Amino acid sequence: MIIHMPIEQHPYDIQIGFDTLSLLKDVLIKHQQKKAFILTDETVHELYKDKVDKLLDEFDIHYVVVKAGETSKSIEIFELVSNTLIEQGIKRDNILITLGGGVIGDLGGFVASTLYRGIAYIQIPTTLLAMVDSSIGGKTGINTALGKNLIGAFHHPLAVIIDLNFLNTLPNHEYKNGMAEIIKAGFIGDQALLEKLEAQDIQTEDMITRAILVKKTVVIKDPYDHHERMFLNFGHTFGHAFENKTNYTVSHGFAVAEGMIIAIRIGIKLGLTERTLLKRIHNLLERYDLGLLKPNPNHLIEQTDQDKKNLKGTLNMVLLEGVGQPKIVAITKEDLYGCFNRKTT
Ligand code: NAD
Ligand code: MG
Repeated sequence: MIIHMPIEQHPYDIQIGFDTLSLLKDVLIKHQQKKAFILTDETVHELYKDKVDKLLDEFDIHYVVVKAGETSKSIEIFELVSNTLIEQGIKRDNILITLGGGVIGDLGGFVASTLYRGIAYIQIPTTLLAMVDSSIGGKTGINTALGKNLIGAFHHPLAVIIDLNFLNTLPNHEYKNGMAEIIKAGFIGDQALLEKLEAQDIQTEDMITRAILVKKTVVIKDPYDHHERMFLNFGHTFGHAFENKTNYTVSHGFAVAEGMIIAIRIGIKLGLTERTLLKRIHNLLERYDLGLLKPNPNHLIEQTDQDKKNLKGTLNMVLLEGVGQPKIVAITKEDLYGCFNRKTT
């Protein structure tokens, strides 16, 4: 399956399937590359080095390998990766390959956006979350001591290659992180995806393609994140608050799962959201073994006060009028009361 991204001046294709990794070789040849510069993390390197070495045996391969996990999205590692690539001889017309999860895609994409004022890069996402979310849409970035993704750039890749074989080694917990974003995609933009997930009757490729198409639709309308792109934040206002208050011991997908429940409850309280959606989200999260971690309501309200989207006492949140009908609504603190309990009706 190929999804075309018609981004102005930077159109590119997303290739999805089994064994699509072999397309990497064709892209490098097409762009007259003799060297392959690959940014990856230790875990992915250990698992896939032999496969990549074999595939690219006619290229001069240079690896930059960083520690697995969010700590690698730092200014120090950004500098280290940039310097290592320069020492390895990367030039303006070379291509950086990011092979890994969202951390590698975000870090490598940001390095590519700044190295020599911008070089091309190819995203090869290896987690479910990176396949359906972080590798799509051209956002790159790193964290600072003050928060996540505070420094970054929009930088679209030359190509995205999604090889479903990578999912074979992905730990279950990481798989669930991606599932939360897929469920989110269903709620904001694809009724059929939601129904197939509910029936547990969907092939992985179809599921990933549908989730990407939801993100594509939003990104194409608003590539630089001024309005519609905020729809992708469904479940994320309180998801982020939950992650933050638990010092990121609760992982993203599980936090977003809770955040979606809360957003639906708020919508119901405001008379905006159909009541049936609450049962549907609960059933889905149960089916995919996600969430129900009972965040502390006071913590969430407190944290939301500091949320960057909090403007003059009201909070812009994504709520749902129905499946596929997200809406940005300014809500007040009073709107939140009573929306954090666990009742499902
Ligand atoms: P991650 O990159 O840390 O990967 C999770 C873990 O899985 C890591 O330990 C990694 O080594 C391991 N792993 C990766 N692929 C594997 C495989 N095939 N087999 C076995 N293990 C594998 O995390 P993530 O969840 O992929 O991404 C999270 C990051 O993505 C966050 O930093 C977040 O801010 C970012 N993000 C960015 C965007 C965007 O639009 N740019 C969107 C959503 C999330
Ligand atoms: Mg997310």
